[in-house]
Amino acid sequence: MTAPNPDKLLSRAASSECAATVSSECVSSQTDVFFAPLAQHLSEYLDDQSVEDIRKAFEFGAHAHAGQTRKSGEPYISHPIAVAHILADLRMDKDTIIAAILHDVVEDTEVAHDQIVSLFGQEVAHLVDGVSKLEQIHFKSKAEAQAANFRKMVMAMVEDVRVILIKLSDRLHNMRTLGVMRPDKRRRIARETLDIYTPIANRLGLNAIRHELEDLGFAALHPTRYRVINESVRRARGNRKEIVHEVEQRFANRLAEEGVQAEVAAREKRSYSIYRKMVQKRLPFREVFDVFAVRILVDRVDECYRALGVVHNLYKPLPGRFKDYIAIPKANGYQSLHTILFGPHGIPLEVQIRTVEMHQFAESGIAAHWLYKAEGDRGAATQARAREWLRDLLEIQQKAGNPQEFLESVKVDLFPDEVYVFTPMGEIIELPRGATAIDFAYAIHTDVGNSCVACKINRRLAPVSTQLESGQTIEVITAEGAEPNPNWLSFVVTAKARTNIRNYLKQLKDAEAIKLGRRLLDKVLAAENRKLEDIDRDQLNALLREYRHDDFTDLLRELGLGNRMAPIVARLLTAKPEPCVEREGNCTPPMTISGTEGLVVTFAKCCHPVPGDKVAGFLSNGRGIVVHRQGCTNARDAGHHPERWLPLQWDDQAAGDYQAQLVVHANNIRGGLARIASAVSQAGSDIDDVRFDDRDVNLTIITITVRVKDRNHLARVMRRIKQASNVVRVTRN
Ligand code: MN
Repeated sequence: MTAPNPDKLLSRAASSECAATVSSECVSSQTDVFFAPLAQHLSEYLDDQSVEDIRKAFEFGAHAHAGQTRKSGEPYISHPIAVAHILADLRMDKDTIIAAILHDVVEDTEVAHDQIVSLFGQEVAHLVDGVSKLEQIHFKSKAEAQAANFRKMVMAMVEDVRVILIKLSDRLHNMRTLGVMRPDKRRRIARETLDIYTPIANRLGLNAIRHELEDLGFAALHPTRYRVINESVRRARGNRKEIVHEVEQRFANRLAEEGVQAEVAAREKRSYSIYRKMVQKRLPFREVFDVFAVRILVDRVDECYRALGVVHNLYKPLPGRFKDYIAIPKANGYQSLHTILFGPHGIPLEVQIRTVEMHQFAESGIAAHWLYKAEGDRGAATQARAREWLRDLLEIQQKAGNPQEFLESVKVDLFPDEVYVFTPMGEIIELPRGATAIDFAYAIHTDVGNSCVACKINRRLAPVSTQLESGQTIEVITAEGAEPNPNWLSFVVTAKARTNIRNYLKQLKDAEAIKLGRRLLDKVLAAENRKLEDIDRDQLNALLREYRHDDFTDLLRELGLGNRMAPIVARLLTAKPEPCVEREGNCTPPMTISGTEGLVVTFAKCCHPVPGDKVAGFLSNGRGIVVHRQGCTNARDAGHHPERWLPLQWDDQAAGDYQAQLVVHANNIRGGLARIASAVSQAGSDIDDVRFDDRDVNLTIITITVRVKDRNHLARVMRRIKQASNVVRVTRN
């Protein structure tokens, strides 16, 4: 087989003519142009079967992207292939390479997630989804704090560290090909790269990628400064070539004399780090640049310390500048010895000494794991360290000594306790995990929370109880006069939301209690043909003093909450005993309840009264009136608190839904409950709760809580249930 002529193929595959047509010829020529070099690259560390699997992904991706071109005019597939190359440099595993090749497929083409699952497996699909998810969030703000939050959002959205590696490689290739973009877009992308992606690369210890991203970002963002600094570096380098060479030679010779196998290389300061130092420390170029930097690589850890002795012997060390990051690694796992020497002509000489393995780790961080995994035993230490470091770095709360596969440990929740979401203006809000739209609304402002009526998540209406996920954009819909719903307390998780809702409800309850207190007192006074207005001021003030109430409203609230008894208060106010108002008396007309009193009138859970039932009210400490059915056992037991009972009657217009409890004896048949449920719903009622009590194999006793309008409605529900073929008996609890 003759090798294809690469030039000819390249021009054909790269021509827009080819890119615009979806022919298999184009794809196959692309295979030669784009895939052959990748296959070569991959075969350096992957077996033939893996490379073959990756070829399938390539063909799939090439078809999916057929007809699409990049801004540069190249076929689109050139981009994912370039990303795959970057990851192959990091020696990433097969699934990562496949996901890299497919990373824009779901986003940019018709290819569905399911197809990727069936062709390449769940793992790959997961990685592709992860990258697509990151693709959808955009960083808008310029503020530093927002950038930090955005970085956390990115990390929080990633369930597998490999997703970040793909994303960073994607960004790296886009930065390398940034030149074709419009200047404003170029600057925006460069800004985002420096604000978001280089710090992430740094945290993951991916120095090679980070440095390149930094220099590309710097060049795009400040082209002139970049040029000036590079020019200065070039000139300065020329001036001191000889000194650098001399130092390198002296180190190499002396190390060889001491029997230490070492590789000595002068280190270039990169333009972005020079620039940053100039800005941060307000130093002129000369002072930042006039430091020689030399790196010494050795094989073993003990040789690091021997090499250190050698260089300290050659040049005097600067006191207090020696750092042992081998004994105490940096937070991102970096290990090395750092020292500064007085070099020739008194120029400071920065020296880094580390093993080859440490160097590899310093360059590719987390990715070094995959590199060493392929090399057997030697990897064990790196792997253990990588895992340890991940644990610190990613703030994983797990306990140490969990012998999981490394792959398992990269699939972790990087921020298990937080979610990060956007406001419609692009501001990022940090919330605890499990937070809902209501928590979000209160995080924005108390008033927003108090008047929230609905929410949109990613522009779609969603229940306000929906738990938020990182990366979503949340819009709160408010309405004037809207009020917090007590139900919110069952799902909000932030203290701010909880406190505000509680405060609001307390105010509401207070207002309702005052109203009820006034009615209770009115009632008692009316029974003796008196009015509140007639009450003697002095007598009232005396009573308030005695009860230590601030004012009359305070007293009314206490009456409404059931903390004071209206008959007693009335007696004290009118200063003459009134046996008539006692429960036995019956001369007080019963008070009317309509079901709309709010939080100060509640319905007893023991007997579930509904409109139409004969009822009585119990004034409960702090809870206002609790309505019971007259036959209720609890009501009959009330002998020891007669003064707390008051006669009640339903308003003709009593409104709302009331709970009632039914006990149904039913034969145990398949679908039995469904029949009962459908009977309930046919009667226009809803089931709130169901409890089972299996008596024996044949008979089940079901306790159902239904919602009804009144006694008649309840009777209809019971009739319907009775008609179900499996039902033996229905009684009200
Ligand atoms: Mn891409």
